[in-house]
Amino acid sequence: MTYRLPILALVVCAACQAEPEQHPADWVLRNGVVYTVDAERSSAEAVAISGDRIAYVGDDGGVEVFIGPETQVIDLDGKMLLPGFFDAHSHPAHAPVDSLSVRLYGLTSLEGYLDALREYASAYPDRPVIQGAGWSNTLFPPSGPRRQDLDRVVSDRPVMFSSEDGHSSWVNSKALELAGITKDTPDPPGGIIERDPDTGEPSGTLRESAAGLVAGLAAPATVEERLLALEAFQEMAARDGVTTVRDAYVRLDDVASEAYARADLTVRFRANLLFGPEDSLDSVGRYVEERAKYQLPRFTIDGIKLFIDGVVEGETAYLLEPYAHRPDYRGELLWDTDFLNETVAAFDEASFIVHAHAIGDGGVRVVLDAFAHARDVNGERDARHQVTHIQLVAPEDIRRFGELDIVAVPQPFWFTKGAYYENLEKPFLGEARADKEYPMQSFFDAGAVVASASDFPVTIPFSPLTGIEHGVLRTDDPGDPALTLGAEESASLEDMIASFTIHGAFASFLENETGSIETGKLADLVVLESNLFDIPPENISETRVLMTFFEGEPVFRAEGF
Ligand SMILES: [Zn+2]
Repeated sequence: MTYRLPILALVVCAACQAEPEQHPADWVLRNGVVYTVDAERSSAEAVAISGDRIAYVGDDGGVEVFIGPETQVIDLDGKMLLPGFFDAHSHPAHAPVDSLSVRLYGLTSLEGYLDALREYASAYPDRPVIQGAGWSNTLFPPSGPRRQDLDRVVSDRPVMFSSEDGHSSWVNSKALELAGITKDTPDPPGGIIERDPDTGEPSGTLRESAAGLVAGLAAPATVEERLLALEAFQEMAARDGVTTVRDAYVRLDDVASEAYARADLTVRFRANLLFGPEDSLDSVGRYVEERAKYQLPRFTIDGIKLFIDGVVEGETAYLLEPYAHRPDYRGELLWDTDFLNETVAAFDEASFIVHAHAIGDGGVRVVLDAFAHARDVNGERDARHQVTHIQLVAPEDIRRFGELDIVAVPQPFWFTKGAYYENLEKPFLGEARADKEYPMQSFFDAGAVVASASDFPVTIPFSPLTGIEHGVLRTDDPGDPALTLGAEESASLEDMIASFTIHGAFASFLENETGSIETGKLADLVVLESNLFDIPPENISETRVLMTFFEGEPVFRAEGF
């Protein structure tokens, strides 16, 4: 609340026209294309920054009075100025740290994964457990990768590799042995132990909660490790113009929260606490206490994260109609719907933002039902509950996002055909359903607030400019029209920019502080080398970020600018 005061002060000052001259600003940026993303989507030429706030937005003439002897003046020379980007769902504090984890992201073959493991295992011969992340489901059959392949490289200590979507774990035989997982171990609630069809032995892939069966083998992360991950993340964020991020989840008593509180933050974070179907509503008070503990200006816990279902590629997304290749199977709903309704109502009543992961159209429907239920029992309030991923959504449910004021949090980076579509989604969902994946324009048409996100490290790198381009073009290869996914869902550039700025801010109750370039707001700004409205959309993702301001301080400046 206290940092609303400066806005009031400015409003008061604007009223006293008699004041003879403005205080010089710390920074003036002029002669640019300032796309403000204010309510009118207006443009300007110049901005002045005083302290952490925007002191002026307007034409070049009007900014002159803000220039004093100490003011740093930047001639934008026609370059574009946007509000700092907002990433509405990311995992900064849980990103793998290279020295602590085998990096599999971007490798494209089983042999590539095994080479990376071999190299890491010889570099760290004393590490008792080898962890890694980033393997792709597209390179393996539906039952997932096999333990025998890992065994060929490392058999004397446990190896645990999580998939790039974070929903499956690939483990070697030693990990299964030490965790006591055998052919007789039943699938845990909300999880699947993939098995050899002939022997019934665990085959090496653990889906969803089943991955938790081996999690205890590794030493828990330390605050220092989390600080390393955060540091690396903030550097990337500054380079990509990202100034605010919602961390999808931390846990109660998470060392990640401690790291956030201790770190020198150059990104503003909002975060959700994880609550699962195995938790008890008796613990809501603990969640309220944990939230109260972290109300720092740059790190605030204000939400609850619920996983409603899994993922299509793991056959764990919960569908309204059966999977195409398994006619008697609709996937996994991780919740009893009554308990889900009670849970959402309880956290709604405690004024948390409820941020739900739902991928299948069945998962989306049950969580919308739960939001409707919360509204029935608690009354209507400005809750800003959210559903993220929304890979498949029935058209009638898209309308409910508008009706129930639910924020849609899509990952436009994924709007394309390609290996996931061809190898997993088309065979698992059938072509007609797969072609309806990832609606976007329909959410805008339904009047929903749409706050875009990367889901880093599922998406690496996470430049919002790539997300904006995919939202407009619906492909990651504009040269190949066959890769366009659902062209009818293409959104406008204006809406895509809003989804990475002001809509994200709104979804976190920060729309009075950031998300647009307006006098009195925090000076979160990004300078782009060209005006996005002047270039072909396929060049948006390659547009360079030249400078990023966070609360009036430059946190990134490209060489030569
Ligand atoms: Zn996520």
